[in-house]
Amino acid sequence: MIRADLLLTHIGELATLDRGPVPRCGPAMSELGLQTEAAVAVDGGRIVWIGPTRKARSAVRLRRGGRTHDLEGRLVVPGFVDAHTHLLFAGDRHREIGRKLRGESYRSIAASGGGIFSTVRATRKASSAQLLRDARGRLARLRRHGTTTVEIKTGYALEPRGELRLLRLLRQLQATEPMTIVPTYLGAHAVPREARGRATAYVDEIVRHSLPTIASAHLARFCDVFCEPGFFSVPAARRILRAAQQLGLGTKIHADEFVASGGGRLAAEIGAVSAEHLLQTPAADRQRLAKAGVVAVLLPLTPFATLVDRPVPGREFVRAGVAVALGTDLSPNSYVESMPLVIAHAVHSARLTPEEALTASTVNAAHALRLADGSGRITVGGPADLAVFDLHHAAEIAGRIGVDPVEVYRQGKFVFTSELRQ
Ligand code: FE
Repeated sequence: MIRADLLLTHIGELATLDRGPVPRCGPAMSELGLQTEAAVAVDGGRIVWIGPTRKARSAVRLRRGGRTHDLEGRLVVPGFVDAHTHLLFAGDRHREIGRKLRGESYRSIAASGGGIFSTVRATRKASSAQLLRDARGRLARLRRHGTTTVEIKTGYALEPRGELRLLRLLRQLQATEPMTIVPTYLGAHAVPREARGRATAYVDEIVRHSLPTIASAHLARFCDVFCEPGFFSVPAARRILRAAQQLGLGTKIHADEFVASGGGRLAAEIGAVSAEHLLQTPAADRQRLAKAGVVAVLLPLTPFATLVDRPVPGREFVRAGVAVALGTDLSPNSYVESMPLVIAHAVHSARLTPEEALTASTVNAAHALRLADGSGRITVGGPADLAVFDLHHAAEIAGRIGVDPVEVYRQGKFVFTSELRQ
């Protein structure tokens, strides 16, 4: 008899995402591992049993003080994994929307000292307490939308000590927030204004000092580089990411967002864990990514949020056989907190199917973060990270645009429950 401290019964549809290879490419992205009239038993935050509700009573014994929760036919999916955010920042950029409406680009706004550089100024100035408070608010809202695991990139301090401060704040959030947080060092988000004209010296500093310090203190799991004209060139990105690999860090790259920068091709060449954004990646480079097993982290709401008239080519990546994952790109430039909204856009603008979009937000996103503990799946031995929806079918999440869960569990504990729930 299996012992449990929580038993969820009468799950109308349970999308386990626990069948098939990890990560999923091509047709395997449609395999949700569905069960109906299911039950899930949890003990100490881990899933210990999954089966039909009618068998739960005989298979599972509740510990004293344990509880049964009847989900009355609702849908349960894995807590979402948001594979790409920049959510540790101060300040806001809402006034830039007017400039973008008048046709200014991210690059021209940044070149005038606004955009990312206004966020850098505000972040450097902000106290650690304020940065933590703002980040906690964002994380709480992410959870309300069903996210239980999130990648967070630094990159709004840029100067070395400021970046270390941000990484230490991420460590504090890891210790205190009811979420799985994966930290990524993005010191190469832009060349800071004070280092203008000295980009090579800035890259030297990252390679010789920042990366070794970060790796030896285990402050980040990944290193990312913003590889676009006017930011970091392909050779500079190659140098930083190779150095990160030698230190044992995983590598990610912001690639092919504004132009076909060659960043996607570089990700394939060096065997990066993921290439991200990828709005402009040429077909040949999509093939290279597929062959190299690089995950494409697509951010379907970013063009919408930044007034760029070009949909993310999600269908093309799936067709090329690339494992696709999704993220919000939460930042002051793309203030998106809702993974269900990302899923809706992944279908309605990037042309994934609803099943593929769910795979990309769970099991594939966990793979993009190299989490092999069962995050992004509902599996025995894995964390009981679950989102409960007042829907009948997993595929409905994409069609009910922006729908939110009514309950969210992280490691078997409520982290959100809606008062709207009947
Ligand atoms: Fe980004």
